[in-house]
Amino acid sequence: MLNENRVHYAALAAKIRIWALELGFQAVGISDIDLSTAENGLLEWLSSGLHGEMDYMAKHGTKRSRPSELLPGTIRVISLSMNYAQADAFDSRQVLLSPERAFISRYALGRDYHKVLRKRLTKLADKIRQESEGFNGRVFTDSAPVLEVELAQKAGLGWRGKHTLLLSRTQGSQFFLGEIYLNLPLPIDKPQKAHCGSCNNCLDNCPTQAIIAPYRVDARRCISYMTIELKGHIPVEFRPLIGNRIYGCDDCQLACPWNVFAKTSLEPDFAVRHGLDNSSLIELFAWDEATFNSRLAGSAIYRIGFEQWLRNIAVALGNAPASPAVMTALQSRATSTSALVRAHVNWALAQQDRLVNHRQALNFNAAVSNAQPGANFIQTIGAD
Ligand code: SF4
Ligand code: SF4
Repeated sequence: MLNENRVHYAALAAKIRIWALELGFQAVGISDIDLSTAENGLLEWLSSGLHGEMDYMAKHGTKRSRPSELLPGTIRVISLSMNYAQADAFDSRQVLLSPERAFISRYALGRDYHKVLRKRLTKLADKIRQESEGFNGRVFTDSAPVLEVELAQKAGLGWRGKHTLLLSRTQGSQFFLGEIYLNLPLPIDKPQKAHCGSCNNCLDNCPTQAIIAPYRVDARRCISYMTIELKGHIPVEFRPLIGNRIYGCDDCQLACPWNVFAKTSLEPDFAVRHGLDNSSLIELFAWDEATFNSRLAGSAIYRIGFEQWLRNIAVALGNAPASPAVMTALQSRATSTSALVRAHVNWALAQQDRLVNHRQALNFNAAVSNAQPGANFIQTIGAD
């Protein structure tokens, strides 16, 4: 009987792999639920306050690191990944080098992945249910207290990079993760070895030095956190470092050599919408709330809301090259009903003033150093 069961679950695991690929996932693996090592790291990270205002990270106690506390009866977790990179998306580095354009993290250019993945995971869970009596399970995609990177690592989908994201030798890191918690004793997969080696590219290229040590991110310094998770004021000292990143940040992934192996997605749902891969900051700042709602409904960006959206763009405009068009755009929101928006617009206007003054000072110095003593000099600086 024991042997029969083993054969049954081995066959089921093989079917799950086939179904997962048919449903559009690129990788699938199965792990047990022992996350005791990760639990220590999580508790230490939380007690150091590195999670910032993400109280939900601490709220669920040990449910996050003990899957059977979240769903009683769970003994296995199926981890799955789905690529999101778009072949025709505007080049990220080009956008980051164009400070008048808006950079949006590449995972958020299409439809909200939560919806897409949840549907596919539910279909997969339904297939398992049909095949195996007594199945009890639940699907997750970044939607509940789940240590998804640790589980995916245990399931052999990749390793945790020094930037703390999951990384794979065949897929890079540009993919979403989803999980199915379940009560069936499926055979488990072997974890992959880590392949970061002596590379430190992600640490060296983080604009805010948020990766304070390998495998340790101070979320409070991270641009993804500041532009997405943080609801209030963005700390002033980080605003200039945010550049033109208005939603998320991909710099640590862009710097990672393994992302040359990232595969592009064929999912129509992840296709770039509304030119969000290379939009003008001024144009996005001109959207009214109705436009924000209609264009971004069904997008992950919608979750931050219009006020936070304007806050982020105001910061990016403050960092944009000084121009009358940028000043006009900012001034148009200087009397916003939102105190949050007003505060960031005022900061941005002051930044623009500083840039203009700096430019004038440079011009003045250049004029002085080129000028001949005498009338020409007086004329140049208009000091007659
Ligand atoms: S997302 Fe950006 S800010 Fe955050 S750790 Fe990566 S490079 Fe740094
Ligand atoms: S950039 Fe280098 S250190 Fe960072 S995750 Fe990639 S391989 Fe690892």
